[in-house]
Parts: sequence; structure tokens; C-alpha cells
Amino acid sequence: MIVDRQGRRFRNLRISLTSACNYACTYCVPNGKRLVAAQDELSAEAMVRGVAYLIEAAGIERLRITGGEPLVSPKLETFMREVGQLGLSDISLTTNGQLLARKLPLLLDAGIRRLNVSLDTLDPVAFRRIARGGDLPTVLDGMRQARAAGMNIKVNMVPLRGQNLDQVMPLLDYCLEQGYELRFIELMRMGHLASDGNGFLQQFVSLQQLLALIGERYEYLQADAPMDATAVRYHIPSHGYFGVIANESVPFCRTCSRLRLSSTGWLHGCLSSSNRHYVGDLLNKPRHEALPALQGLLMKALGDKQDIAFSGGATVMKIIGG
Ligand code: SAM
Repeated sequence: MIVDRQGRRFRNLRISLTSACNYACTYCVPNGKRLVAAQDELSAEAMVRGVAYLIEAAGIERLRITGGEPLVSPKLETFMREVGQLGLSDISLTTNGQLLARKLPLLLDAGIRRLNVSLDTLDPVAFRRIARGGDLPTVLDGMRQARAAGMNIKVNMVPLRGQNLDQVMPLLDYCLEQGYELRFIELMRMGHLASDGNGFLQQFVSLQQLLALIGERYEYLQADAPMDATAVRYHIPSHGYFGVIANESVPFCRTCSRLRLSSTGWLHGCLSSSNRHYVGDLLNKPRHEALPALQGLLMKALGDKQDIAFSGGATVMKIIGG
């Protein structure tokens, strides 16, 4: 097992099935273009082999499937069917929910029971302005159907000053009512925001600001979370839970156990590092040839992790698999 000086190792793999997305969220996709897949994306079979090799070489236990938008990928069905056979302790998926109702039977058949659905507002006009694609009722209906089918749903919201700050309380109320756990994600200095300090600061909303807003209506207590959790979790007695992924306010680099594999075959050990390591060619090699080479690259990827705090990265989230 590869472990660094701080005792960190890779346990959680995030795989970007495709970099194509049917949205072009303003804070994620700088050029506003939808449905653009990267050239030379790996096949579903190569990706499944990648997961299998990483389970062995890095000790991966849990997988999150993301993108881009994983539900637009033609690889989804084959990937889901085969990855479910690898003995992982948990497989979950992050989606914008636009195709959720349509793909629900496939996800259920593949054994998926945990979803994160990204939703930044309940206002249909603001929805179109931020996501630059899709529509709100379809997402809400997809979530309802998934919940009725027994899925556990977390909702991801990125609060942005000047865009959807007025939606923090409506979304929290809605999620508490519906039994979804809301996760606020502090805006990250990724992609175009890494080089646009002003744009980032103008929109950034901190953990403290969110708690102050929520505290005007609800009493909350900090709740337990696993050691390597990214979210600070809170309990609102008699109502439910919410969390904040506070990259800036409460950095979690010291306990980070995440590894990312892009749709084009690059390993990323850290969101905040521009280093990446190409493994696409190794995934076509037999196990005995691939694993030793992979071990070397994993050591480099682990060495890319920040010691203490996230400082931003030039990679666009939809490429790296947010
Ligand atoms: N298409 C899927 C979705 O919408 O959930 C998966 C990919 S998307 C890149 C994953 C998550 O990254 C979304 O919740 C999105 O809001 C978040 N994200 C993208 N760019 C971000 C940024 N600069 N800061 C914080 N979160 C970001």
C-alpha cells in the first residue's frame, strides 16, 4: 500500500466517465459550450480495467462516478454493469439530474443506491442563467423518482454571491422537507476562477457566512463525520442534516484520500496541483505489466497532494471529475 509521510493513502476514486456535459455552469465551463467530449476518451472497458488495477495497486475501496455529466455518456451502461463486479464497498454517482428519470432503471440494476444531484437554485430563471442548459422541473422530478425507488439523495449547491445567495434558505427548506441532505460547496478556485481572483472573490460565500444565514432560522449542532470526510456536517434537530464542503474555510487536505481518473486516462492526485500522470496506455496492458508501472505513478500522484490547504488549480472541474 502506498502511504505518504502524513499517513495519507488513496481509498476513494473519482472517475470522470466523460468530459461532455449537457450543462455549462458559469463557474465550471468557461466557454459556455455544452456536450463537448474530450478527444481520445477511454473506452468503458479500459475504464473498468483502470478501476480494477487501481483497486489492486492503490487499495481503492470506494468509487464515485462523475464527469462531465456521466448520464450523457454512451459508455454508462457497459461501465456500470462491469464495475459492479469488482467488489468495491461503495459505488455512488454525481449527476446534474437532467437525465435521472430516464437512466434510473439502469442505475438501480447496477446497484447504485447513493446519488449526489447538483442543484444551485429552485428559481427556474436563475437555473437557466447559471446552468446554461437543462430545466428545473425535470431535475426535481428525477430526484422524486429516485427517492421513491429507494435512492439516498444528497443535493450539491454552490452558493454564489450575486447569483443564488437568496436560494440558500429555500433550497435548505426544500431539502429538509423532501428528506434530501443538502451539501453546500464553497466555490473553488478551479479552471478560469484560478486565474480570475476578482471573479472568484466577488462570488465566494464562506462557511461562516452560510452558518450565519442558516442560524437566523434554525438551531444546528455539528454532527459526526468520517475521518476523511470532505464535508462539515450539521444536525438541525427534528428537521434533518446539512453539510458544507468548506475547501477554503476548513481545508481537508491533511486527511484527503481521493484519487481522480479523467476520461482521457490521466491520474490526478490533487485538485490543487497541475501535475497529472498518464495511465491510458497501461490500461491496455496485462495486469503483471501494468501494476508495477502504475505503482510508480501512484507514488508521484500521492506526492502531488497539498500539505495543508487547497490553493486552486487550472484544471476545469468537468475535465478532472468534480
Ligand atoms: N455533471 C455532474 C454534476 O453536475 O453534478 C458531475 C460533474 S460536476 C463538475 C460535479 C460538481 O462539481 C458539481 O456539484 C458542481 O457544482 C461542482 N463544481 C464545478 N465547478 C466548481 C467550482 N469551481 N467550485 C465548486 N464546485 C464546483
